[in-house]
Amino acid sequence: QSVKLIAGNWKMNGVAANLAEVEILKRELESGVDCRVALCPPATLVGRLAAVAGSKIEVGGQDCRAETSGAFTGDISAAMLRDAGATLVILGHSERRQGHGETDALVAAKAEAALEAGLSPIICVGETLQEREAGRAVEVVRRQVVHSLPLALTGRDFAVAYEPVWAIGTGLTPTLEQIEEVHRAVRSAMIERLGLAAAHPPILYGGSVKPDNARDILAVPEVGGALVGGASLKAADFLGIIQAA
Ligand code: 13P
Repeated sequence: QSVKLIAGNWKMNGVAANLAEVEILKRELESGVDCRVALCPPATLVGRLAAVAGSKIEVGGQDCRAETSGAFTGDISAAMLRDAGATLVILGHSERRQGHGETDALVAAKAEAALEAGLSPIICVGETLQEREAGRAVEVVRRQVVHSLPLALTGRDFAVAYEPVWAIGTGLTPTLEQIEEVHRAVRSAMIERLGLAAAHPPILYGGSVKPDNARDILAVPEVGGALVGGASLKAADFLGIIQAA
């Protein structure tokens, strides 16, 4: 089993004052840590966070544009994130698929742009409550994986994050059996799409991960880490999850 990746997604939370939490986290991680740790702050903080993060905390963006530059007011490119110090980027989060109409094809194009700029994508997939209740969770997630992963990912460093939409920010989580079922389906869809090289990139679980459920979730077969929203904002909570990995 390779080392786990624990990534925090601050979403649209955080101003300069929150960098104090990063300083606390960094100090705690100095004594040694058994997993990869990443933080994805809002774009305004990527550069400043990268400047204070040190060697134990990787920095990521939360989205990028598929194009490399041009007249796209308000958007940022993968190369800009890289230039600011990011090495990762979250793509296709459900809050972007739902709130910004992002399709699997667009997510795949963004992932290609990320790779070209030297960023490792964390590509998010996950079913809605309606889809789960209709018994379609595995089918939906498999389809998202096959269509959101560009072939250019073959052999590259990337991750897939399984985030059931109904588990995000709700305090609800799937059962451990449900997480295992979907993660196994994600793995087989990754291999179907990219071949055997896709047997290794981590599949993160995301959706109401907290210090008190992290140990059980991270022990599920095929769970290679966590993508953490709310509990990544406070160093103490995030550390509790890191220590469970
Ligand atoms: P919460 O951990 O707040 O449920 O958010 C999960 C998420 O969407 C991470 O990307």
